[in-house]
Amino acid sequence: MNLEQMLQHFKASEKMMKNITSWVEMPAKEAVYAEFPDFIDERIRTALERRGVRKLYSHQASAIEAVHDGSSIVVVTPTASGKTMCYNVPVMDAILKDEASRALFLFPTKALSQDQTSELHELITEAGVDVKTFTYDGDTPQSARRAIRQAGHIVVTNPDMLHSGILPHHTKWTKLFENLRFIVIDEVHHYRGVFGSHLANVIRRLRRICDFYGSKPQFICCSATIANPAELASRITGTDIRLIDNNGAPTSGKHIIFYNPPVVNKELGIRKSSMLEAERIAESLIRNGVQTIVFTRSRLNVEVLVTYLKDIYHGSKDGDKRVRGYRGGYLPNLRREIEKGLRDGSITGVVSTNALELGIDIGALEACIICGYPGTIASTWQQAGRAGRRSGVSAAILVANSSPLDQYIINNPDYFFGKTPENGLINPDNLVILYNHMKCAAFELPFEDGEKFGVETTGEILSFMEEARLVRHVGNRWHWMSDVFPSDAISLRSASNENFIIIDISEPKPVVIGETDRFSAPMLLHEEAIYMHEGIQYQVEKLDFDDKKAYVRKVNVDYYTDANLAVDLKVIDVFREDREKPVHRSSGEVSVSSLVTMFKKIKLHTHENIGSGPVTLPELEMHTTSYWVSLPEEIPGMSQTDVQNGLLGISNVLANAAPIYLMCDPGDIRVVHQVRATFTQRPTVYIYDSYPGGVGFSDKLYELHGELFETAASMIAQCGCETGCPSCVGPLTEFTGTGDPKEMSMKLIDIIRNAYK
Ligand SMILES: [Zn+2]
Repeated sequence: MNLEQMLQHFKASEKMMKNITSWVEMPAKEAVYAEFPDFIDERIRTALERRGVRKLYSHQASAIEAVHDGSSIVVVTPTASGKTMCYNVPVMDAILKDEASRALFLFPTKALSQDQTSELHELITEAGVDVKTFTYDGDTPQSARRAIRQAGHIVVTNPDMLHSGILPHHTKWTKLFENLRFIVIDEVHHYRGVFGSHLANVIRRLRRICDFYGSKPQFICCSATIANPAELASRITGTDIRLIDNNGAPTSGKHIIFYNPPVVNKELGIRKSSMLEAERIAESLIRNGVQTIVFTRSRLNVEVLVTYLKDIYHGSKDGDKRVRGYRGGYLPNLRREIEKGLRDGSITGVVSTNALELGIDIGALEACIICGYPGTIASTWQQAGRAGRRSGVSAAILVANSSPLDQYIINNPDYFFGKTPENGLINPDNLVILYNHMKCAAFELPFEDGEKFGVETTGEILSFMEEARLVRHVGNRWHWMSDVFPSDAISLRSASNENFIIIDISEPKPVVIGETDRFSAPMLLHEEAIYMHEGIQYQVEKLDFDDKKAYVRKVNVDYYTDANLAVDLKVIDVFREDREKPVHRSSGEVSVSSLVTMFKKIKLHTHENIGSGPVTLPELEMHTTSYWVSLPEEIPGMSQTDVQNGLLGISNVLANAAPIYLMCDPGDIRVVHQVRATFTQRPTVYIYDSYPGGVGFSDKLYELHGELFETAASMIAQCGCETGCPSCVGPLTEFTGTGDPKEMSMKLIDIIRNAYK
């Protein structure tokens, strides 16, 4: 059977169809073309023609013209729509017109930068022009670095290298900074939360250095579809950004299918394993020779699924090579071999983590199975975009797991197919992050009195630095005086410099497997905690709190651990509030002190409590931003316990509903509730950013208030359980008294919704 027949076969199967919550056939779309603008150098046009490109897609032409007009832009394009032309063409054209012109390309990952620049190299070779493009990252040999600094027209790098390897050494890069015309930021939607807040500050430093050398670069950004691409790009670059979203690339017809595994335990809301269901569907496709990619969330799942699927070709010649895994950690040669096998068709099935979600060229496959919602709509579309041949049909099948977010998406296809609600959010003015980058900036060039750095308060911050003996105020300037090299101590991936590292001591040679921030460490890394990493269980043997190190060992147990966190939250400052209605909403700064006193061992699958232990660790305090909602003091028909249960249910639901709008991981925010809050004197639910200083979530939640509670309500209403389960209001064991937790939560949510109708 071919794919089309397979799909007919699925449609005819009652067993299959009763688990399908949505089947959308997206029609093929014709290309919308535009002529090459006249100003483009003839050599580029001829080279493109020789490569089969005779016309531009409409969005490519708009992008090239906007850049020519001097605008900074963000191009919003789906997978495989020829976005690299939107920056390669204007940059090459500028260099051909003025040989001194320079450009800097930033990609979030090394693999992506290699792939995207190979296309550029081919175009340059085809055009027979002298445009020197070099990659400058951690792998660049020392011997090549000097030549790149002097002669590279286009320098390809990543934000981390720009931060620690280029900006602090700007005096060696004078050619680049004097002539910098373009800064290309690809996959701009990746720079959210902490990482994005850091990048915005790295760009502030970059622009400061450009000012010093007298250049004024334009920005060319590309983004997947999110709700606020121009706003995000503008926040990151500190510049006005023009949105280009008239996508003219053609698409083939595609089936998008939502599959929800059947419920096996109604009481606990447990469904059949998404892995096994995805495997079953993948197997039937691959057996029929349909080239298929399966996306799964962990490396471990990649290995497990590959092992299962290889059985299809058991005993046949070269069968072992027909199904492959692909994930981070594979060596480049192996990756190239697999990518090639996918393009030439010698591989029929591949199981991948999101490593293949980004632009790496593997050609177009026929079918894509997404095992577990990837966390954002943007990622889901990028993964689904891997299936789609220019002729014929393709299919993408999303298989949900039991988690609240998966269940929400699978039951609300309109939310998925409609206008995206996902916001890319950052907070460049987070004081911890800002302060760190001002140190780097002061090291790079002295600050002038009155100089701004995104914020107006640079003077205060510099005075503080002077007290810390980092800078000295001489005349009207602030000079760096410390002998430390500030960028070395700052990682763009974490908010504070106080991360705990996690060391695996299972083998004779200890290996660092990860890190976590100071405020999560007591929860995740207390002694005897089960720490999950890449789907593998580790037990914490020793936590050295002063040295910020946790020593862990691989284990195989049938439980996870859950630490009891006592949180005390105090409001320090109110930024915004709305107290007109019976339900109040606010946002502001809070102080959160947290103390872990004990942990529970919870059995996997059944969620039974099978033991506990004490934890002795210091109390931690953090200042961050929060959004909170408070209900009337008295709620008719509800006892104190009912309100308590309702607030707990709401908190659990909000912890899953909020990330939908914020494009963040569930761990990036925390929710606490107080039946009678000290600050409001009312039943109150707080959602706070789990990073010191906050990264912009709370303010957005304040604005999204109404939508947030609509989503929370449908998460509860649509859950198939009876009185509550981990997929909606949380495990029943957390609740006290005799009331129905689902009902109590809904009652409170309705009061909140009605107040803002
Ligand atoms: Zn439920």
